This record gives sequence, C-alpha cells and structure tokens, in this order.
Amino acid sequence: MGVTLFKNCKFLFAGADPKSVSTSHSVAVEDDRILFLGTEKEYYEQHPEKSLSTVIDCTDKLVMPGLVDGHNHLCNTLMNISRAFPFDYSHISDHMLTTIHDPYGWLTPESLYDITMTSAINALKHGTTTVENSTILPDTAYEAMDTSGIRGILAPQMASSFRLDSDPLNWKQALEKTKSCIEHYHNPKRRMSVAVHIHDLWDCMEKLMDGALELAEQYDTRFVTHFWEFQNAAERADEMWRDDGGAFSHYMKKGLITSRSVLFHGSMLREPEIEAIAGTGASIIHNPDINGTNCGNCAYVPYMLKKGINVGLGSDYGSLDAMSAMKLMLIVHNIMPRAERVLPYQAPFYAATMGSARAYGLDQEIGSIEPGKKADIITIDLKKAPHLLPLCTSLLEASPELLYFLFTRNCAGTTTSETMVDGKFLRRDGEFLDLDEEKFVKKTFDWAERCMTDLMEKHRFGEHYARIIHPDFMKDGDITWDVLN
Ligand SMILES: [Zn+2]
Repeated sequence: MGVTLFKNCKFLFAGADPKSVSTSHSVAVEDDRILFLGTEKEYYEQHPEKSLSTVIDCTDKLVMPGLVDGHNHLCNTLMNISRAFPFDYSHISDHMLTTIHDPYGWLTPESLYDITMTSAINALKHGTTTVENSTILPDTAYEAMDTSGIRGILAPQMASSFRLDSDPLNWKQALEKTKSCIEHYHNPKRRMSVAVHIHDLWDCMEKLMDGALELAEQYDTRFVTHFWEFQNAAERADEMWRDDGGAFSHYMKKGLITSRSVLFHGSMLREPEIEAIAGTGASIIHNPDINGTNCGNCAYVPYMLKKGINVGLGSDYGSLDAMSAMKLMLIVHNIMPRAERVLPYQAPFYAATMGSARAYGLDQEIGSIEPGKKADIITIDLKKAPHLLPLCTSLLEASPELLYFLFTRNCAGTTTSETMVDGKFLRRDGEFLDLDEEKFVKKTFDWAERCMTDLMEKHRFGEHYARIIHPDFMKDGDITWDVLN
C-alpha cells in the first residue's frame, strides 16, 4: 500500500493527554500501521528512502484516532418503533419482549445484513473505526462488519429465557454458536475479535452463564454482558439472591466479574459495588444516551473514575454514534445531583478511544496515534465544521485541555472527511469510497416500514416474534429442563 502522509495537521489530537495535542505535525502510515509522528521535515530526514503514495493536506483539518464504540447492537436500529405498543416499561420482561425481542425476532438474514451495514456506515461516518456489536445471527453480522471495513468486536447474544423466531437456538446451541464464531472469526491482530456474551443476568440460566465463563477462559476472550441497566432488574435480582447477600454479592462469588469482564451500562451500580468492581479490573461501558432515553438513569461515572475503574463509551444503538455519546458524557455528569460531579475535559475523549480499547484488550493496538499502532485515523475538515468554533491553535500554549472541552461540547453530529481503518481509506473528502451509503440507508428505511407493518399485524392477534421459554429471574433448580431443548 506504500506510505500515506497526513501532512501539516492544523490540530493533531494524538490521544487524550493534553500534551499529545499538537499543530503543524504530520502522521505517516505504512501499510496497516502508523510509521511516524512529527514534522514533515523530520519525516523526510528519518525516512529518505520511503516514497509517498498518498498525501492528505491537513492544513485545515483536525486529525485524531478513530473512535471505539464500546457497546452497540448494529442490527437493533428498529427497536424504538415498538414503543408504539402498550407495555409496562418498568417491568423488565414485558418491556424486553415488546421493545427488543419482537423487532429482533422479526429479522431475517437479509434484513439483518442491510441494517447492520447501515449502522456500520453510520458509525464510520461519525468517526467510529472500531465497534462492539452485540448481535443475533452472528455469521451474517460478521459478514456485514467485514464487508464494511470497520474493526469489530463480535458478541453473539446468548440467553435462555426466550427464543427468537429469527434465531431459535437453545442454550446449548447458543454456546456452540459462540464457540464456532470464536474459532472462525476471532483474530484481534486483524480486524475482528469475538467476545462471549450472555445477554443479561436475569434471562440466562446459571448453567449458560457457567458455560459462557468457561468459553471465555478457554479461548482467552472477553466476557461481556448488560449489567444492571434497569432499576426493576436490580431490585428483582436482589430479591432472588437475598440469601446470598444480594445479587451483586452472588455474582461476585460466582466469578462473573473479573479482569476479562466488560459490563455494559452499570447504571444501577451503587458506591460499594463500584468499589468492588474496581478491585477486579473489569471495565464498564458507559452509554449515556440509552441510560437517559430508555432506562431513566445514569451511571455514576465520576465515582467509577475516582475509584480507578476503566470506563469506555458506547452508543448502544445503530443509529446513535460515539461522537454524540462523548458530548452527552461531558454534559450529564455536570447535571446529576451526586457527591462526585464534573469530569475532566478530556475524560469523554479518553473513554471513546483508549477506555473502550482497553476494555477489549486492544489498547496496545488502537485508541491513539502512536508509531507502531494500527492506523485507525479520522480527519475532520474544519472548513466545513462551523460548529467546532472557536477551536484555535493559540490554546495549545494557553490551555491545551480546553481544546478537549471545545471539541467535545460541540462534536455531536460531526462527520469525517477521511476515515482510515487498518491503514485503508474507507472515506475520502467526506465520501465513502466503496460503501454505497444511499443504497443501504434506503433499504433500511424500507425495512423499518415493513417491520412496523408486520409488528402491528402480530400485535393485532396478540402474538410475538419470540416466545418465552422460562420466566426471567429463575434459579436453575426451578426450571423444568425439558422446555430448554
Ligand atoms: Zn445493549
């Protein structure tokens, strides 16, 4: 591929440390890795033998590492249309069947492929170069992620209390499917990792959890799960495990929370639980948008950071994006009426880059612009970004950390000029090179129409695209085993 030079960057945010911000520096990329960071003159002095195949003039551009969306469901873009139907939002099982399982159960490989592609396009357009994808039909999801060019963490969803029409695996088959995905797709040195993913703690038998933990250990991959996103779920779990000192204490004893665990949301966690998690080395992925719009809560991130937990950032939803999540993260912790408030200006930038990368053990490879790391780089054309005023280079001398504030408070909606993943350009001059954005977006709007029409038809007859196998919040001993096959 030769050497690409991002030349004379007006702003280069190499990482989340204010000392890493520079102006008039250049970044060289050779094949899939970052070769050099410094002035253009230094580049020619250090690499006189290497000719340049591509030069991007960044005199008016902001250059930064691609964002790492630590939690998303790329096929879940249709979720919110189910809010049209009556359900008890505070009751977790009723809520999940209507808003999540139905649109999931409606999917086909064809629609899931198109919707996943559209979500990947949305992510790439808004600066994400790595995305965690908790998904059903993982072979199709892998195909779409691979074709889109994005770097991914594929997390095939496993649960036992319900079965989707679209992906009707029983719990043993779900474990087999995850194992097969790890064996076929897990290759963190390239563009894909596979994580072991149980959907949530109240819709999985303990046997499934145990099997999942074993798989993660056997293949040395991450173990990921939604963890305490809803008040109703936390309260019912506490009740269920009262004899064990409450749900959190039960799961800690079980070994569910370790350094290989990545917990999505953590929005119901209280101080003592946060302190316990800090001692394990587990990471939490903060999803401020879905916390606010779907759960009516907000993770206690300032306290998590104070206690040393690694916090990544996610969007949790195909039509949201990590750039907007950064802005929300900056804002919401100023508002939450808690003892610990306000984050350092660079905290959302860190969470959306190194924080998420570290959660998945990828921080040596991605998350910052450093020689030797993978070339996942984005540029923003400041001539087309009036919303990013008043960023100015003089602040490098006066207060470089203020640059993170100015960027983060206004970055929602920003699209990239260039997006490079693994040394390959996916976008140039604000356009995709190979991906047909209009085709996939139009197809997904059409799928949304069909899905809503079909869901209304189902609801008319009181039916669903999923069926309940056993009640949620059940201990294994209370489940009739024949229903599980
Ligand atoms: Zn989620």
